Amino acid sequence: MEGVEVERPLKLHFIPYLAPGHMIPLGDIATLFALRGQQVTIITTPSNAHFFTKSLSFANPFFLRLQTVEFPSQQVGLPEGVESMSSTTNSATTGKILAGAMLLHGPIQDFMEKDPPDCIVGDSVYPWVHDLARKLQIPFLSFSGFSLFTVSLMETLRTNNSINSDTDFHLDSGSYVVPNFPHCITMCSKPPKLFTGYMEMVLEWMIKSNGLIINNFAELDGEECIEHYEKTTSLKSWHLGPVSLIRRTNEEKAKRGNENVVSVHECLSWLDSKHDNSVLYISYGSICYFSDKQLYEIACGIEASGHKFIWVVPEKIGKEDESDEEKEKWLPKGFEERNIENNGLIIRGWAPQIMILSHTAVGAFMTHCGWNSIVEAVSSGVPMITWPVHGEQFYNEKLITDVRRIGVEVGATEWCLNGVEEKEKVVSRDSIERAVKRLMDDGDEAEEIRGRAREFRDKARLAVQEGGSSQKNLLALIDELKRLRDHKPLD
Ligand code: UDP
Repeated sequence: MEGVEVERPLKLHFIPYLAPGHMIPLGDIATLFALRGQQVTIITTPSNAHFFTKSLSFANPFFLRLQTVEFPSQQVGLPEGVESMSSTTNSATTGKILAGAMLLHGPIQDFMEKDPPDCIVGDSVYPWVHDLARKLQIPFLSFSGFSLFTVSLMETLRTNNSINSDTDFHLDSGSYVVPNFPHCITMCSKPPKLFTGYMEMVLEWMIKSNGLIINNFAELDGEECIEHYEKTTSLKSWHLGPVSLIRRTNEEKAKRGNENVVSVHECLSWLDSKHDNSVLYISYGSICYFSDKQLYEIACGIEASGHKFIWVVPEKIGKEDESDEEKEKWLPKGFEERNIENNGLIIRGWAPQIMILSHTAVGAFMTHCGWNSIVEAVSSGVPMITWPVHGEQFYNEKLITDVRRIGVEVGATEWCLNGVEEKEKVVSRDSIERAVKRLMDDGDEAEEIRGRAREFRDKARLAVQEGGSSQKNLLALIDELKRLRDHKPLD
């Protein structure tokens, strides 16, 4: 019966963090395992279930199911149904959602004790997954949602104690060079202390895992980074992405995350009517908000660039029924009359991002550098205008601009604590116009950047095909987890 034992599917329990940028990719990763015949359960809270139901439709429900546990709304003082980082525009609520997520430990442990899996795939923000896995005597894999380039860079800063010491800073310019890292990376702004303190804990929790799951392909992170991280931590990383590439048709691409606020058909016919590479796509992800003043500068900058655009603004900012007076706080007078329909679209709420990015009319993406947005743009060969705001986004920017050279910076230097915090600085309309023209005006530099972006798109697509690096990693990981379960010696 030995052969039968090896073929027995793995039982995997996934625990995503309660933010779209974590739930969406982890849902896709769960689907990857289910499509390979493994039995996957995603554990989430009732209000977040809809984020996964679209992923579930990809795979046979026998292999991929959803388990909900109650969110402790009362305990953390939140109204019923506010359970995701995308439901808030203020730091106090953000903190309460994080506190609620930490309290999921109890109900998730109860569920797992009744129905123990062979392995847990847990978001790296949960400090208790390690204890839970140890209690159940099973391995756990950690998912941060970051690239390994960024994890490795943060780990290097942590082990060199660089962030906390001022010795590595050039005090005149305020910049510093990351020491002992495979690439020469100069950072021009310092992260908030609260962020580095928190990240140091998360990096330690990651190291306690049996390996990292990365939504990237090895070619974009680069062998040198992978080796560097494995050498400094002795931890293996499994590159399985870009995971959004499991969606092939426009319908599959459009059904992802929240409900779209635009008609997919209208969005596609608008894009179909435009020339290749002629449209700038602008989005700052699911949890990042700008002041009216900043939005106004963006509007002026894109109008001055003279390029066509799709601009996604959070629904809480651009309301359909807002008065002219309210609108003119963030949109110059007559902007819509001059631009909307022919030159541009404003999407007020959730947009079908990967469907838009994969359209040939899209020629550049102005992005806040959330890792999912970056890897989705790379998968479509779309060069980027980088505008990091908070968290690890400033490190992601370096990979895209300095290392892979498939994007240009807008010049954002204010490193906020989160996406909803009030920002002190405003990126000017001139900087925005300059960056847009640099990529969209068909100069030699733009052509070179576009060429490199196409090369990485091709590599990304190869990686997820049969025999590609990410496909091979997935099969090897399944194999290794089965060996661990069956207590067979590792190769
Ligand atoms: N997204 C989307 N439509 C939107 C906003 C976001 O589909 O209108 C998706 C996007 O494709 C990505 C995720 O939400 O998969 C956002 O993750 P990212 O890491 O880019 O940024 P975050 O929201 O976590 O800051």
